[in-house]
Amino acid sequence: MDVVCEPGWVSDCCFLIDGYGWRAERSTCVLAVKGSRFAAIVDAAHKSSAPFILRGIRDAGVESSSVRYILVTHRHTDHAGGVAPLLKAMPDAAVMGHRVTLSNIRDPSRINEASRRMWGDAADPMDPVEDAERLIPVSDGDVVDLGGGVEVEVVHTPGHTSDHYAYYERKSGVAYLGDAGGLFSCPTRMVVPTSFPASFKVDPYIRSLEKLMGYDVDVLVFAHFGAIRGKGAADFISKCIEVVEEWVELAKEGGVKEVAGRLKEGYLSGFTLFNPEIRSVIFDALAAGLVNALRGPRGV
Ligand SMILES: [Zn+2]
Repeated sequence: MDVVCEPGWVSDCCFLIDGYGWRAERSTCVLAVKGSRFAAIVDAAHKSSAPFILRGIRDAGVESSSVRYILVTHRHTDHAGGVAPLLKAMPDAAVMGHRVTLSNIRDPSRINEASRRMWGDAADPMDPVEDAERLIPVSDGDVVDLGGGVEVEVVHTPGHTSDHYAYYERKSGVAYLGDAGGLFSCPTRMVVPTSFPASFKVDPYIRSLEKLMGYDVDVLVFAHFGAIRGKGAADFISKCIEVVEEWVELAKEGGVKEVAGRLKEGYLSGFTLFNPEIRSVIFDALAAGLVNALRGPRGV
Protein backbone atom coordinates (compact mmCIF):
# COMPACT_ATOMS: atom_id res chain seq x y z
CA MET A 1 0.00 0.00 0.00
CA ASP A 2 1.39 3.42 -1.00
CA VAL A 3 0.83 5.58 2.08
CA VAL A 4 1.68 9.29 2.20
CA CYS A 5 2.38 10.54 5.72
CA GLU A 6 4.15 13.77 4.71
CA PRO A 7 2.93 17.04 3.20
CA GLY A 8 3.43 17.39 -0.56
CA TRP A 9 1.86 16.53 -3.92
CA VAL A 10 -0.47 13.53 -3.88
CA SER A 11 -1.49 13.96 -7.54
CA ASP A 12 -0.75 16.35 -10.45
CA CYS A 13 -3.11 18.97 -9.03
CA CYS A 14 -3.53 18.16 -5.32
CA PHE A 15 -1.09 19.14 -2.59
CA LEU A 16 -1.37 17.93 1.00
CA ILE A 17 -0.76 20.60 3.66
CA ASP A 18 -0.16 19.96 7.36
CA GLY A 19 -2.57 22.18 9.34
CA TYR A 20 -0.87 21.48 12.68
CA GLY A 21 -4.20 20.82 14.39
CA TRP A 22 -4.02 21.12 18.17
CA ARG A 23 -0.60 22.64 17.40
CA ALA A 24 0.78 19.16 16.73
CA GLU A 25 2.25 18.04 13.43
CA ARG A 26 0.43 15.44 11.33
CA SER A 27 -2.87 15.72 13.19
CA THR A 28 -4.87 17.57 10.54
CA CYS A 29 -4.38 18.08 6.84
CA VAL A 30 -6.02 20.21 4.19
CA LEU A 31 -5.71 19.94 0.44
CA ALA A 32 -4.74 22.62 -2.05
CA VAL A 33 -6.23 21.92 -5.49
CA LYS A 34 -4.66 23.77 -8.41
CA GLY A 35 -6.44 24.23 -11.74
CA SER A 36 -5.27 26.22 -14.78
CA ARG A 37 -7.48 29.20 -13.82
CA PHE A 38 -8.16 29.02 -10.09
CA ALA A 39 -7.14 27.20 -6.96
CA ALA A 40 -9.23 25.84 -4.09
CA ILE A 41 -8.53 24.73 -0.54
CA VAL A 42 -10.39 21.71 0.73
CA ASP A 43 -11.09 22.15 4.45
CA ALA A 44 -9.70 24.90 6.63
CA ALA A 45 -8.52 23.06 9.78
CA HIS A 46 -8.35 25.10 13.01
CA LYS A 47 -8.22 28.85 13.45
CA SER A 48 -4.59 28.46 14.56
CA SER A 49 -3.86 26.47 11.36
CA ALA A 50 -4.19 29.47 9.02
CA PRO A 51 -0.48 30.47 8.98
CA PHE A 52 0.51 26.86 8.25
CA ILE A 53 -2.05 26.62 5.44
CA LEU A 54 -0.79 29.88 3.91
CA ARG A 55 2.76 28.57 4.06
CA GLY A 56 1.58 25.28 2.53
CA ILE A 57 -0.10 26.91 -0.45
CA ARG A 58 3.09 28.88 -1.09
CA ASP A 59 4.99 25.55 -1.07
CA ALA A 60 2.49 24.34 -3.69
CA GLY A 61 3.20 27.42 -5.84
CA VAL A 62 -0.29 28.83 -5.30
CA GLU A 63 -0.79 32.58 -4.76
CA SER A 64 -3.34 33.31 -2.03
CA SER A 65 -5.06 35.70 -4.47
CA SER A 66 -5.72 32.80 -6.87
CA VAL A 67 -7.66 30.82 -4.26
CA ARG A 68 -11.33 31.23 -5.23
CA TYR A 69 -12.94 28.58 -3.07
CA ILE A 70 -12.58 27.22 0.43
CA LEU A 71 -14.53 23.95 0.41
CA VAL A 72 -15.45 22.95 3.97
CA THR A 73 -16.33 19.37 4.93
CA HIS A 74 -18.41 20.07 8.05
CA ARG A 75 -19.07 22.37 10.97
CA HIS A 76 -16.48 21.18 13.51
CA THR A 77 -13.88 23.67 14.71
CA ASP A 78 -10.96 21.56 13.43
CA HIS A 79 -12.34 21.79 9.87
CA ALA A 80 -14.13 25.15 9.69
CA GLY A 81 -12.08 27.15 12.22
CA GLY A 82 -9.53 28.30 9.66
CA VAL A 83 -12.17 29.89 7.43
CA ALA A 84 -12.32 33.32 9.11
CA PRO A 85 -8.54 33.99 9.10
CA LEU A 86 -8.09 32.48 5.61
CA LEU A 87 -10.78 34.74 4.13
CA LYS A 88 -8.78 37.72 5.36
CA ALA A 89 -5.68 36.46 3.55
CA MET A 90 -7.55 35.34 0.39
CA PRO A 91 -9.41 38.40 -0.91
CA ASP A 92 -11.14 36.63 -3.82
CA ALA A 93 -12.13 33.45 -2.00
CA ALA A 94 -15.67 32.32 -1.17
CA VAL A 95 -16.56 29.55 1.25
CA MET A 96 -18.63 26.59 0.10
CA GLY A 97 -20.28 23.88 2.15
CA HIS A 98 -23.56 22.51 3.47
CA ARG A 99 -26.00 25.21 4.61
CA VAL A 100 -25.70 23.91 8.21
CA THR A 101 -21.90 24.15 8.03
CA LEU A 102 -22.21 27.72 6.75
CA SER A 103 -24.68 28.76 9.45
CA ASN A 104 -22.21 27.51 12.06
CA ILE A 105 -19.47 29.54 10.39
CA ARG A 106 -21.64 32.66 10.58
CA ASP A 107 -22.44 32.02 14.23
CA PRO A 108 -20.01 29.54 15.82
CA SER A 109 -21.21 30.02 19.42
CA ARG A 110 -22.81 26.56 19.73
CA ILE A 111 -20.04 24.68 18.00
CA ASN A 112 -17.41 26.51 20.05
CA GLU A 113 -19.22 25.52 23.23
CA ALA A 114 -19.37 21.85 22.16
CA SER A 115 -15.70 21.99 21.25
CA ARG A 116 -14.83 23.41 24.67
CA ARG A 117 -16.70 20.54 26.34
CA MET A 118 -14.77 17.99 24.26
CA TRP A 119 -11.30 19.51 24.22
CA GLY A 120 -11.17 21.80 27.28
CA ASP A 121 -8.14 24.06 27.17
CA ALA A 122 -7.04 22.51 23.86
CA ALA A 123 -10.17 23.82 22.08
CA ASP A 124 -9.35 26.34 19.38
CA PRO A 125 -12.59 28.35 19.06
CA MET A 126 -13.73 29.72 15.69
CA ASP A 127 -14.26 33.37 14.85
CA PRO A 128 -17.54 34.24 13.10
CA VAL A 129 -17.66 35.22 9.42
CA GLU A 130 -19.87 38.27 9.16
CA ASP A 131 -19.77 38.73 5.40
CA ALA A 132 -22.62 36.39 4.36
CA GLU A 133 -21.97 37.13 0.67
CA ARG A 134 -18.81 35.06 0.88
CA LEU A 135 -20.69 31.98 2.12
CA ILE A 136 -22.17 29.92 -0.73
CA PRO A 137 -24.25 26.80 0.00
CA VAL A 138 -23.60 23.84 -2.30
CA SER A 139 -25.36 20.47 -2.65
CA ASP A 140 -24.51 16.87 -3.41
CA GLY A 141 -23.29 16.52 -7.01
CA ASP A 142 -22.38 20.20 -7.48
CA VAL A 143 -19.07 20.68 -9.30
CA VAL A 144 -16.46 23.43 -8.93
CA ASP A 145 -14.47 23.95 -12.16
CA LEU A 146 -10.92 25.19 -11.54
CA GLY A 147 -9.84 25.04 -15.21
CA GLY A 148 -7.71 22.62 -17.21
CA GLY A 149 -10.05 19.71 -16.44
CA VAL A 150 -9.55 20.05 -12.70
CA GLU A 151 -13.04 19.73 -11.22
CA VAL A 152 -14.10 19.14 -7.64
CA GLU A 153 -17.39 17.39 -6.96
CA VAL A 154 -19.40 17.73 -3.75
CA VAL A 155 -20.33 14.38 -2.19
CA HIS A 156 -22.81 14.47 0.68
CA THR A 157 -21.51 11.95 3.21
CA PRO A 158 -23.55 12.16 6.44
CA GLY A 159 -22.76 9.96 9.43
CA HIS A 160 -19.97 11.72 11.33
CA THR A 161 -22.27 14.75 11.17
CA SER A 162 -25.42 15.31 9.12
CA ASP A 163 -23.81 18.23 7.24
CA HIS A 164 -20.70 16.32 6.16
CA TYR A 165 -19.37 16.61 2.59
CA ALA A 166 -16.45 14.77 1.04
CA TYR A 167 -14.85 16.34 -2.05
CA TYR A 168 -13.78 14.40 -5.12
CA GLU A 169 -11.32 15.81 -7.67
CA ARG A 170 -12.31 14.15 -10.93
CA LYS A 171 -9.18 14.58 -13.07
CA SER A 172 -6.81 12.80 -10.71
CA GLY A 173 -9.33 10.76 -8.70
CA VAL A 174 -8.49 12.32 -5.32
CA ALA A 175 -11.17 11.82 -2.67
CA TYR A 176 -10.78 14.09 0.34
CA LEU A 177 -12.78 12.29 3.00
CA GLY A 178 -12.75 14.82 5.81
CA ASP A 179 -14.05 12.80 8.76
CA ALA A 180 -16.23 10.49 6.64
CA GLY A 181 -13.77 7.58 6.62
CA GLY A 182 -12.32 7.67 10.12
CA LEU A 183 -9.22 8.72 12.00
CA PHE A 184 -6.23 7.35 10.10
CA SER A 185 -3.01 6.54 11.96
CA CYS A 186 -0.60 6.87 9.07
CA PRO A 187 2.45 5.06 10.55
CA THR A 188 0.41 1.96 11.55
CA ARG A 189 -2.15 2.25 8.68
CA MET A 190 -4.94 1.76 11.19
CA VAL A 191 -8.28 3.50 10.84
CA VAL A 192 -10.94 3.93 13.54
CA PRO A 193 -14.44 5.40 13.04
CA THR A 194 -14.98 9.11 13.81
CA SER A 195 -17.84 8.17 16.13
CA PHE A 196 -17.84 11.31 18.26
CA PRO A 197 -21.00 12.33 20.13
CA ALA A 198 -23.54 13.72 19.70
CA SER A 199 -23.82 13.74 15.91
CA PHE A 200 -22.49 10.28 14.90
CA LYS A 201 -25.01 7.94 13.21
CA VAL A 202 -23.97 4.41 12.22
CA ASP A 203 -26.15 3.64 9.20
CA PRO A 204 -25.62 6.91 7.31
CA TYR A 205 -21.86 6.63 8.02
CA ILE A 206 -21.72 3.19 6.37
CA ARG A 207 -23.99 4.25 3.49
CA SER A 208 -21.75 7.26 2.82
CA LEU A 209 -18.68 5.03 2.57
CA GLU A 210 -20.58 2.70 0.23
CA LYS A 211 -21.47 5.73 -1.88
CA LEU A 212 -17.77 6.71 -2.08
CA MET A 213 -16.96 3.21 -3.33
CA GLY A 214 -18.88 4.16 -6.48
CA TYR A 215 -16.21 6.75 -7.35
CA ASP A 216 -13.02 6.01 -9.25
CA VAL A 217 -10.63 6.72 -6.35
CA ASP A 218 -6.87 6.82 -6.93
CA VAL A 219 -5.98 8.81 -3.83
CA LEU A 220 -7.81 8.73 -0.52
CA VAL A 221 -7.10 11.62 1.85
CA PHE A 222 -7.99 11.58 5.55
CA ALA A 223 -8.35 14.94 7.31
CA HIS A 224 -6.63 13.25 10.29
CA PHE A 225 -3.96 12.56 8.73
CA GLY A 226 -2.46 11.28 5.51
CA ALA A 227 -3.27 9.69 2.17
CA ILE A 228 -3.34 6.33 0.46
CA ARG A 229 -2.45 6.17 -3.24
CA GLY A 230 -2.93 3.62 -6.00
CA LYS A 231 -4.98 0.46 -6.02
CA GLY A 232 -5.06 0.24 -2.23
CA ALA A 233 -6.96 3.54 -2.04
CA ALA A 234 -10.29 2.21 -3.26
CA ASP A 235 -9.87 -1.03 -1.28
CA PHE A 236 -9.25 0.93 1.90
CA ILE A 237 -12.78 2.36 1.79
CA SER A 238 -14.09 -1.16 2.44
CA LYS A 239 -11.58 -1.42 5.30
CA CYS A 240 -13.18 1.70 6.81
CA ILE A 241 -16.58 -0.02 6.65
CA GLU A 242 -15.22 -3.25 8.17
CA VAL A 243 -13.83 -1.38 11.17
CA VAL A 244 -17.18 0.34 11.86
CA GLU A 245 -18.83 -3.08 11.77
CA GLU A 246 -16.22 -4.45 14.22
CA TRP A 247 -16.86 -1.51 16.54
CA VAL A 248 -20.62 -1.95 16.36
CA GLU A 249 -20.11 -5.59 17.36
CA LEU A 250 -17.89 -4.57 20.31
CA ALA A 251 -20.45 -2.00 21.45
CA LYS A 252 -23.51 -4.24 21.32
CA GLU A 253 -23.57 -4.73 25.08
CA GLY A 254 -22.61 -2.70 28.11
CA GLY A 255 -22.23 0.93 29.03
CA VAL A 256 -19.80 3.51 27.68
CA LYS A 257 -17.06 2.56 30.15
CA GLU A 258 -17.12 -1.11 29.23
CA VAL A 259 -17.27 -0.37 25.51
CA ALA A 260 -14.39 2.11 25.82
CA GLY A 261 -12.38 -0.62 27.57
CA ARG A 262 -12.96 -3.07 24.72
CA LEU A 263 -12.11 -0.50 22.04
CA LYS A 264 -8.89 0.50 23.82
CA GLU A 265 -7.86 -3.12 24.23
CA GLY A 266 -8.25 -3.75 20.52
CA TYR A 267 -7.17 -0.49 18.93
CA LEU A 268 -5.43 1.99 21.23
CA SER A 269 -1.91 0.61 20.69
CA GLY A 270 -2.15 1.21 16.93
CA PHE A 271 -3.58 4.70 17.31
CA THR A 272 -0.85 7.27 16.73
CA LEU A 273 -2.84 10.48 16.17
CA PHE A 274 -2.76 13.50 18.47
CA ASN A 275 -0.75 13.78 21.67
CA PRO A 276 -0.29 10.51 23.59
CA GLU A 277 -1.84 12.06 26.75
CA ILE A 278 -5.20 12.61 25.09
CA ARG A 279 -5.53 9.36 23.11
CA SER A 280 -7.36 7.58 25.91
CA VAL A 281 -9.75 10.53 26.27
CA ILE A 282 -10.44 10.40 22.52
CA PHE A 283 -11.36 6.72 22.81
CA ASP A 284 -13.74 7.51 25.70
CA ALA A 285 -15.46 10.05 23.43
CA LEU A 286 -15.58 7.67 20.46
CA ALA A 287 -17.12 5.00 22.71
CA ALA A 288 -19.71 7.47 24.04
CA GLY A 289 -20.70 8.51 20.50
CA LEU A 290 -20.93 4.90 19.35
CA VAL A 291 -23.02 3.75 22.32
CA ASN A 292 -25.27 6.79 21.93
CA ALA A 293 -25.75 6.01 18.23
CA LEU A 294 -26.55 2.34 18.84
CA ARG A 295 -28.92 2.85 21.76
CA GLY A 296 -30.75 5.76 20.07
CA PRO A 297 -32.39 6.07 16.62
CA ARG A 298 -29.91 4.95 13.97
CA GLY A 299 -31.04 7.05 11.00
CA VAL A 300 -30.23 10.71 10.25
ZN1 LIG B 1 -15.44 16.31 12.80
